[in-house]
Amino acid sequence: MKTPFVTKEQLDAICTQYATPFHLYDEKGIRENARKLKQAFAWNDGFKEYFAVKATPNPTILRILQQEGCGMDCSSYTELLMSDKCGFAGTDIMFSSNDTPAEDFCLAAKLGATINLDDITHIDFLKETIGTLPKRISCRFNPGGKFAIANTIMDNPGDAKYGMTRPQMVEAFKKLQEYGVEEFGIHAFLASNTVTNDYYPTLAKILFETAAALKNETGAHITFINLSGGIGIPYTPDKQPNDILVIGEGVRKAYEDVLIPAGMGDVAIYTELGRFMLAPYGHLVTKAIHEKHTHKEYIGVDACAVNLMRPAMYGAYHHITVMGKENEPEDHVYDITGSLCENNDKFAIDRNLPKIDMGDILVIHDTGAHGFAMGYNYNGKLKSSEILLREDGSTKIIRRAETPEDYFATLDGYWDVSL
Ligand SMILES: *Cc1c(COP(=O)(O)O)cnc(C)c1O
Repeated sequence: MKTPFVTKEQLDAICTQYATPFHLYDEKGIRENARKLKQAFAWNDGFKEYFAVKATPNPTILRILQQEGCGMDCSSYTELLMSDKCGFAGTDIMFSSNDTPAEDFCLAAKLGATINLDDITHIDFLKETIGTLPKRISCRFNPGGKFAIANTIMDNPGDAKYGMTRPQMVEAFKKLQEYGVEEFGIHAFLASNTVTNDYYPTLAKILFETAAALKNETGAHITFINLSGGIGIPYTPDKQPNDILVIGEGVRKAYEDVLIPAGMGDVAIYTELGRFMLAPYGHLVTKAIHEKHTHKEYIGVDACAVNLMRPAMYGAYHHITVMGKENEPEDHVYDITGSLCENNDKFAIDRNLPKIDMGDILVIHDTGAHGFAMGYNYNGKLKSSEILLREDGSTKIIRRAETPEDYFATLDGYWDVSL
């Protein structure tokens, strides 16, 4: 069973202060989880989590993670700007991007971020863009084929647009050394939202073996290995969460089996987790405002897919709690819908829930990562506010809701429509 991180009484009080819908974040949960991750990898001296900013790009959230010792993983110009404004030093920023515009490379280099190259052609593109290459560079590896654990195909790297092939990694490391690069990192992201303790250890073993071979083949000095994102969370109530301490031990074993014998016992392990760091610590809070009885039973809420796109985009399951009715029988079957003129704007389809009355507050679970962040403005809908639930139970608004003025801001000066 999934329980919200707020009680009904707490949430009712919060809803008198802030209009629904809004995203609510649990500071205590975020901090405790970040500390556990750090503990899981404490055996590695250089360990660092570079939070994937794209998952939850909010300055207050980034600052909380900063206090817990995290750096930032940026994928774009604006994410780099945000990390810089939040006070992250270049050494605490990873820039993992693909199909990268020249301006983004320029800013990353200016900030002193570690650039993670997605493709071999980006070496010369970067050199032409910024002149001298930085001393430290990372390359993204894509082994191709299918990535399977325990006979389950988790993902399909052979189909993914990211990363370099094995021969390209060799060529890249040689070329980068000729261009004066002295310190190398290897990065790979082979499977997403894995709810198994085996993903990271399996990936780590592949990357460690690759690193040892690349060192031999190219003489490159490899100082870090970036396991990237991909540790998942149990969106459905039947699944067990990953145990990060077990995962950390699994990676340690691979490290001791492969890197230490290769004389690479000083290599730092980096992670770039997004979902694992934030998803369970965010709720989308919304109110039931309409009920419709036609060929199916519908409950219309005041949030829609622009506030949380995952169900519409991937058919993703997000658990829903009807606040105050946790112990009532789930004897109704509903589609929970938003108001977009798109039939896929449904937070749940054929979901068994307790009877919902107008005005009931619904918590949509696990929206702390890739939730608000994926928002858009279709149908002229506006993005919601973001609220932080502090450790002492108080709340703080950390992003106001959009207004029509924000929506029209890019039209400033373009209202003269005489053609
Ligand atoms: C999206 C992404 C991440 C974070 O992925 P999660 O599944 O949220 O952990 C990390 N690194 C890169 C390069 C990404 O694109």
